[in-house]
Order: sequence, then structure tokens, then C-alpha cells
Amino acid sequence: MDMKNPGFDTIAVHGGYEPKENNFSMTPPIYQTNAYDFVTTERAAALFGLKEDGDIYSRISNPTVRVFEDRMALLEGGSAAVAFSSGHNAIFSLVTNLCESGDEIVAARKIYGGAVNMLGQTFGQFGVRTTFIDSDNLLAWEEAITDRTKLFFFETVSNPGAAVADIAPICEIAHRHGILVVVDSTFTTPYLCRPFEFGADIVVHSATKYICGHGNAMGGIVIESGKFDYRNNPRYRAFGEPDASYHGVVFARDFPNAPFCARLRNKYLRDIGGCMSPNTAYLMLIGLETLSLRVKKHCENGETVAKYLQAHPKVKNVSYPSLPGSKYLRVCKKYLPNGCGAVFTCELGGDRAKCAEFMDRLKIFANVSNVCDSRSMVNHSASTTHAQLDAKQLAAAGISEGTVRFSVGIEDPADLVADLEQALSVL
Ligand SMILES: *Cc1c(COP(=O)(O)O)cnc(C)c1O
Repeated sequence: MDMKNPGFDTIAVHGGYEPKENNFSMTPPIYQTNAYDFVTTERAAALFGLKEDGDIYSRISNPTVRVFEDRMALLEGGSAAVAFSSGHNAIFSLVTNLCESGDEIVAARKIYGGAVNMLGQTFGQFGVRTTFIDSDNLLAWEEAITDRTKLFFFETVSNPGAAVADIAPICEIAHRHGILVVVDSTFTTPYLCRPFEFGADIVVHSATKYICGHGNAMGGIVIESGKFDYRNNPRYRAFGEPDASYHGVVFARDFPNAPFCARLRNKYLRDIGGCMSPNTAYLMLIGLETLSLRVKKHCENGETVAKYLQAHPKVKNVSYPSLPGSKYLRVCKKYLPNGCGAVFTCELGGDRAKCAEFMDRLKIFANVSNVCDSRSMVNHSASTTHAQLDAKQLAAAGISEGTVRFSVGIEDPADLVADLEQALSVL
């Protein structure tokens, strides 16, 4: 697309793709290939030495996947992106790009249960320690910093409780200490929030959710702002030193616009191999074309359902962050002017059995462990997605035995409300 300053929806449909470079095909072709013809041994050596840009092997890069990566970088306002097989592979790989044994992470306590496990347990196995803090307390971020802190990690809107992060002051604290900020923006997508505009350095998405949008493909993506200075920063020496596996390439010097993604792709996609398949990238690109239309409708339906639940006498409370009385109203206004998504929790004020009675009667809302699908879904977090957390961790994550997680889809809102009405009436 040859156009100056295109708008969000124009990028979502055209960004990163040129029909005239692809046999004039209007939709991006699926490059279903593992390898690429080097033509000459000289060119092969240049590609392997990172002296020439091009595809070597589809574990490291692929032209269909690149359209998705370039489009996401444009939508977020970043300098580069790397796609992965899942959101979790994206998070695992990006942390590996930053941390070695002895290093530390400061993370919000209210994040996806799977991320709590990965950062707290699995990275612990490699000697990387994570300090989980109350992310609403700005002082707690600063107090958790040590000489070995390599990143701050939090979600724009948290899974599942919909806590909204005060992005700008958290980034300000991190940058005062020369620390990189990683934001998981899965629940907001670049349509609702663009964390780079508030100081974030790296954005990660589970593209499995709103980006794909239809619950039919898994993926992840890491985008970098291109603004973080890795040189002369003792925390990130690895970016400024010659890399032995690439004939002395110095990522911060040789890839000045995107050192993080260059290192992430060429070392950790190469070594861990969590690449996105070209078929999946094709589905992700279809999802992106309607991103703003879908997310707008999700937000409208989410708010309608949340308001209905909040007013219902059998519901104790609802965590939707823009409801009157929410402690997140100020940050919603600042960071989420287009809406705050459609995933939140609802407290039924009972035990597991009461939740089961309600959930088992629902006809439209399906009981599944996925979120941000076009379909409406519920889940009992304490016995499924957050089952690995102990009672203290559950409470810290804002979950109890009586918590039902909602992910509101794009069906007719009147039908969703009627479904809730008939299921609540029996309690
Ligand atoms: C689902 C999710 C992940 C993990 O992504 P997968 O694609 O399931 O691997 C990470 N962060 C958040 C906020 C999520 O909702």
C-alpha cells in the first residue's frame, strides 16, 4: 500500500501487503514452503551471516507470516514484529531474549493464570525469579526493582478480572531505572489501546483471541517500539556484545531500528522454534480485516451484559471496569476511550455448586476455557484456568469459588440477556 499516514482500518485491510509483488493476488498468498532457493552459495552465506535480509527457512521467517507481522507493527505503531505459534510461546521467547539465570522479572499479580505459572514456576526452573506485585500500587513496582531486574510485565486489561493498568507512570518508573516494559495487550488489541503511545517498549498479544477473532487458530506476536536504547545499559549487555552464533553481529548496533525483534527472531525463533505457520498467518490476516468492527461490537455487548448483571439481585458484583463505582474509571477514560473489551468476572456470592447450577443452564454462553471469540462464553476460573493457583494466589488474582468469567461475543445482545435471565432465575 503506497499511501502516507493511512488510518487504522486502512492498515488493517492493506498494511504490509503489495498485490503487484505477489502476482497481483488481492489476498496474501499462503507461502506453504519450508525453504527458499539461495540461488548462489555467496547469497546463502550472506543470509546466514545476517548481512542480507531474506528468507532462509520457515522456522525463522516466511513471507505470509511477514505480512501479518508487518501489519501488526503498523497497527501498534512499532518498528518490527515477530509472530509465534501461540501467545505463550511469544511470552516464553521474549523473556528468554532478556533473561538468563540470576535475572529477575517484576510482574503484576493480576495476570493470566498461565502466565503466573510460566513466570513463577517454569522460569524459576532456569534460575529466573519473578516478583509478583499489586500492580495498582505504583510504589510496589519501584520497590521490587533490583540490579538484576530485566523487565516489567503486566496486562493492559487483566485476564480474567479486567483490572486496568495505569501504563504511563509504570513506564516512567521503569525507564528511570533503565528497565524495559513489556505489556500484554491481548484484551485490548491495538484498536482499544496502543501501549507504545504511553511509553511501553514491547507489546505482546495472544493473537488466538480478538486478533484471530473467531476461535479457530492459535498464535502470538511480539512488537517492539524501536525506541528503547539498549546500548550503554548494563542490564542489556547481550544486545551490545558480539554474538558468537552470528559471526560477531551486535544486535543493538547492526539492527538500530529493531534490535529486540532481530535478536528474538534470529536467536530464539531459531533455537526454540515456536514459529507461526503460514496457514495460521492467513487466518490472522482475515481476522485483522474486521478487527475494529468486531471489537466495537464486543465492547457494546460486553457493557450491556455487565450492566444487566450488575443490576441483577442475585449477582454480588461485576468487574467490568467502566461500570459506575469501578475503581478503574479514571484509567479507563485515559487509556481506553473506545471501550474496555468484553471479558470480566462476575461474583455470584456462592460456591462452586451455585456457579455450576447457573452455568449448566446457559444455552448461548458456552462453558469453555477460551476468551475473545465471536461466541459468548463462560468459565469457572477457580476449577479450570486458575486451578493451579493456591488460595492466596487466587485471592490476589481477584478470583473466588463463586467467580464466573464472562467473555461476551457478538451475538444479539437481547438474546444474551434473555439467556442470562432464564439461568439466573433458578438460583
Ligand atoms: C490466552 C492468553 C495468553 C496465552 O495465549 P495462548 O495463545 O493461549 O498461548 C496470554 N495472555 C493473555 C492475556 C491471554 O488471555
